[in-house]
Amino acid sequence: MALDGARGARDEESREKKKKKKRRRKEEEEEEGEEEEEGAEAGGSPSAATMGDGDAGGRGLAGARPRGTERPSAVHGRLVLAFAVCIVALLAVTALAVLLSLRFDGCGPGAPGGAPGLPARGGNASLPGPHPRGPGRAAAVGRGAEREREPEREPEREHPWTHLRLPGHLKPLHYNLMLTAFMDNFTFSGEVNVEVACTNRTRYVVLHASRVAVDRVQLAEDRAAGAVPVAGFFLYPQTQVLVVVLNRSLDAHRNYNLKVVYSALIENELLGFFRSSYVLHGERRFLGVTQFSPTHARKAFPCFDEPIYKATFKISIKHQATYLSLSNMPVETSVFEEDGWVTDHFSQTPLMSTYYLAWAICNFTYRETTTKSGVAVRLYARPDAIRRGSGDYALHITKRLIEFYEDYFKVPYSLPKLDLLAVPKHPYAAMENWGLSIFVEQRILLDPSVSSISYLLDVTMVIVHEICHQWFGDLVTPVWWEDVWLKEGFAHYFEFVGTDYLYPGWNMEKQRFLTDVLHEVMLLDGLASSHPVSQEVLQATDIDRVFDWIAYKKGAALIRMLANFMGHSVFQRGLQDYLTIHKYGNAARNDLWNTLSEALKRNGKFVNIQEVMDQWTLQMGYPVITILGNLTAENRIVITQQHFIYDISAKTKALQLQNNSYLWQIPLTIVVGNRSHVSSEAIIWVSNKSEHHRITLDKGNWLLGNINQTGYFRVNYDLRNWRLLIDQLIRNHQVLSVSNRAGLIDDAFSLARAGYLPQHIPLEIIRYLSEEKDFLPWHAASRALYPLDKLLDRMEKYNVFNEYILKQVATTYIKLGWPKNNFNGSLVQASYQHEELRREVIMLACSFGNKHCHQQASTLISDWISSNRNRIPLNVRDIVYCTGVSLLDEDVWEFIWMKFHSTTAVSEKKILLEALTCSDDRNLLNRLLNLSLNSEVVLDQDAIDVIIHVARNPHGRDLAWKFFRDKWKILNTRYGEALFMNSKLISGVTEFLNTEGELKELKNFMKTYDGVAAASFLRAVETVEANVRWKALYQDELFQWLGKALRH
Ligand SMILES: [Zn+2]
Repeated sequence: MALDGARGARDEESREKKKKKKRRRKEEEEEEGEEEEEGAEAGGSPSAATMGDGDAGGRGLAGARPRGTERPSAVHGRLVLAFAVCIVALLAVTALAVLLSLRFDGCGPGAPGGAPGLPARGGNASLPGPHPRGPGRAAAVGRGAEREREPEREPEREHPWTHLRLPGHLKPLHYNLMLTAFMDNFTFSGEVNVEVACTNRTRYVVLHASRVAVDRVQLAEDRAAGAVPVAGFFLYPQTQVLVVVLNRSLDAHRNYNLKVVYSALIENELLGFFRSSYVLHGERRFLGVTQFSPTHARKAFPCFDEPIYKATFKISIKHQATYLSLSNMPVETSVFEEDGWVTDHFSQTPLMSTYYLAWAICNFTYRETTTKSGVAVRLYARPDAIRRGSGDYALHITKRLIEFYEDYFKVPYSLPKLDLLAVPKHPYAAMENWGLSIFVEQRILLDPSVSSISYLLDVTMVIVHEICHQWFGDLVTPVWWEDVWLKEGFAHYFEFVGTDYLYPGWNMEKQRFLTDVLHEVMLLDGLASSHPVSQEVLQATDIDRVFDWIAYKKGAALIRMLANFMGHSVFQRGLQDYLTIHKYGNAARNDLWNTLSEALKRNGKFVNIQEVMDQWTLQMGYPVITILGNLTAENRIVITQQHFIYDISAKTKALQLQNNSYLWQIPLTIVVGNRSHVSSEAIIWVSNKSEHHRITLDKGNWLLGNINQTGYFRVNYDLRNWRLLIDQLIRNHQVLSVSNRAGLIDDAFSLARAGYLPQHIPLEIIRYLSEEKDFLPWHAASRALYPLDKLLDRMEKYNVFNEYILKQVATTYIKLGWPKNNFNGSLVQASYQHEELRREVIMLACSFGNKHCHQQASTLISDWISSNRNRIPLNVRDIVYCTGVSLLDEDVWEFIWMKFHSTTAVSEKKILLEALTCSDDRNLLNRLLNLSLNSEVVLDQDAIDVIIHVARNPHGRDLAWKFFRDKWKILNTRYGEALFMNSKLISGVTEFLNTEGELKELKNFMKTYDGVAAASFLRAVETVEANVRWKALYQDELFQWLGKALRH
C-alpha cells in the first residue's frame, strides 16, 4: 500500500517559498510607494467573501451533476435508513444476547430481538425445527452448557467473540464467494461458503463481519454433508464479528462448511466495497471497487479477516452486462442471462490473505502487454484516459518491473495476470491487491506532454512500490500487523532500487533516498512521542495506526542499513531464500533475521542479525553518535551514543524515556581526511554509551562518520572538527562524496535545531553551495531550510534570514538560468540531475524573493493568459503558477481556478489546485478552504492537501488552523477511518504553529475532543512545544549571527 503524499513535501516547499516571494514583493512595493494593490485588495475582499459563501460548489458544478442520480439517491436513502434500522435492531439483539448469556435458541419472531419487519435479521430464518420452544428453554440449555464447562473454562474464553483476535479454533481453507452487484441502487447481495478446519472443539463459529445484514447461516459437516444445527447467530459490532452459536460442539480435526447469505451497501466511503464515479461526455458513470487492507474485507463478506488465515478463494460476480468485472484472477467463464445480466466466474486464487482480495465493477477500457515470462499485464482506466495513452507509461514500466523482480528475487510472479486499475477516488495512493492493484489516477496516469520530472518520478515510484508488494506482501505476508513494516519498509526501499533499474543514471538508492526517506523520517522519529517500527497492536484502532511513515520510511532506512552492512549481494541472496521458504505463507521479522543470518554464515560472516536489528526495530528513535578527538592522548578518539531528541525537555517529561537507557549496536563507518586525501573506510561497531578507539589523526585532519549516510543515525563532532569540515567544503567540496555532503548538511541543521550545535554552523556549511553543481546537496539544504524558514516566516527580522539565503542562491541561479524548452521523454534520463538541480535553485530563488525569478514567473504567466497558450516549461510549472498567484492580482487566481476546472490531465490539475493556495489574499484563501470540502469541486483526498498548503502559507496559517478547528467534526467523520489521512492533516495544519498562544489553542482543542486521534495530537503538541522552545532559546543567537554575516 502506498500512502499518499509520499513525495509531496518538495512541491509544498515551492509553494511556501512562493508565498514568501509574495511577501517580499509586497514589501518592495510598499517601499516603492505602490498603493494600487492595497486598494484593490480592500475593494476585492467583500465580493470575494460573498462569492466564497454563495459559490461553494456553484461554479460549473451544478452542470456536472448527473441528471440520473435522483432516483438512485432516493432508493439509496431508503436503503441506508433500512440498514440503520437493522443495525440498531441488531445492536439491541446483541446486547440482549450477551446479557442473557446467549439464550438464543429459537430466536424467531417471538424472540427478544424479533423486531417487526426484521424477521430474518439477527435470528435464523432457516432455524431447524427441533428447538421450537423459544427463549425459555434456550436459556436453560445455554446456562447448562456453560455450567458443565465451568471448571476448565478460562474467564477470557467465556465470550470468545469479545477479543481483538479470532479464537483460533477454526481455520478457513477455501472460500466460494458469489456476489450480485446492483449498481443502480448501490447494494449487493452475497453468498459465501467457507470450508473450515476445526483445530479445537468449539460450540461457536466466530468470524469477521461488519456492516452486512446476515439473512441466513448454515453449517454442515464436510463429509457427511449433514447439517450441524445452528442455535442462532448474531453480529457483535464491537469486534466486528459474526457469532454462530451451535447446538453441539464441532469436533477437532474435522472439516465443516459454513454458508452465510447476506446483503450490504456499496458504500459511498473509501473502504470495503465502495463506489466512485467520473464524468464521460457529460454523463456521470459509476464504478464499484474494493479496499480491504487492513481490516475491511469483513465489510464485503463474512470472513476470517486476519492476515494469518490464508485460504484459496473462488469468486463469482453477477452484474449488469453493461459493466465489466475484475478480480485477482482471470475470468474462467462468463454466463450471460437473457435479462441483461452476466455472471463472471474467476479462477481460483492461490493461498492468500483476505485483505489482498479485490474486485471491481466498471465501464473502463484497457491496454495490455505481456512479460517475457508470459504474465499478461493490463492497465484499466476511464475510456478517455486510455484513448489518450495516459496509462501507457505505467503499463510499460510494470512489464519491465515484473521482469526485474523475477530476476532479482529468483521467484516468478505467481499469478497468470496483473491488472492495474486507475480509479478516481481511493484512500491511499495505491493498493497492491494480488493480481488487481488499484491506484488513484494521480499516481498512475501520466500524460507526457504536461508532466514534470517530479510527477514522472512520483508515478514511477508508486508503481515500483506496488509491484514489489506482489512478492513482499502478497506472496509472503507478515504474520500480524505489528510487523507491517516488513512489507512496507521493503516496498519503500525497493522504490529506489527498482527506479535505479529503470533509470540507471539516477542513483536513487545511493542519493535520493537520503533526502526523501532518511532525512524526512529522522525528523519524525526524533520526537519523544515517536514509536518503535514494530508496534504492538492491542486494539482494533491500532491496526490503522501502524501504517505510518515510521513503518514505511524508517522500515526502509533500517533495511538499507542492513543491506549495506551485510553487503548487497549477500543481502539479495538472503531475500531470495526468505521468499522461497515462505511463499504462499506468513512470516515474522525473526524469520527474516534468521534467513539473513544464514546467508551471512554461508559467506563466512557471523553476525547475529536478530540481536542487532531488535534494538533498531523494538526501540523507538535513533542515536546521535558524538566523535570527540582527544587532544591530550594522541590518536585516541572518544565515541559516545545517546538517544537523539529534538526537544530535550520532552525527554524529561516522558516517563518511558527516562526509565529506558536506550542503546543501539551501531555500524559506524568512518574516514579520516585532509584537503587532498581521504582514507579508506573503516567500520567500528559501537555498542556502549561511551567507547575509546585508536585512530591516526594528524593535525589538520578531519573525521567523518556514517559514510554516505547508510546508517540510521546522526553524527556530531567537536567544534574543531566541524570547522575543518566546513573549511574542506569551501576549499574543495569534491573530496567528500555527494551523499556525504548532503548528509553533513542535514545532520548540522538537525543538530542545531535540537540544540546540540551552535545555530550558525549549518548556515556556515551552506556557504559552499555557490560552488555545488550536484542536485542532492542542494536538495538536502532546501529541505533542511524549510522547517527553519517556517519557524521564522512570521517574524519581524525574517528578512535577514531571507537575504542570507538569497545570497547563497544567487550565483547558481544566474549560472543555471531557466529551462528554455519543454524536453521530451527521451531527454528525461540524460538531463534528470541537471534539470532537478535547476528546478531546485529556481524554487529557492523564487520563494525567497529573487527579483529576476519573480519577473520571469510573472512574464510567463502573463504570456499564458494573453495568448491562452501555456509555454511554461513543464518542470517549473508548479513554481511559476504559485509565484504568479502570489505576486499577481485576483484575476490570475481566477484564471488558475478556471484552468483547474477545465484541464483533464491529472498532474496538471494537482499543481493548479496547489497554486491556488499560494495567494496572499486571505479572502481567496478562505474561499478556497470552504470550497475544498465540496466533493464535487475538490476530490476528498485533495481537500487535505488544500488545507495543509494553506497552513504552509504564512498568510494562511491561522486561517487553516481555524478552519481545521471549526470543521474538525466534518473532517474527522470524513477521514476518521483512513487514519493516515487524518494524521497527515493534523500534522500538516499544526507543524508550523510556533507561538505560546497557538500552543494553548492546540491544547484546549485537544481537551474538547479528548481521545480522538490521540497519538497524532500528542505528536502535534510536542512539535509545537519544540518550535516554541527553539524560538525562545535560539532565535536571537541566529539573527545576531545572520546580521553579522550579512555585514561582512
Ligand atoms: Zn505498500
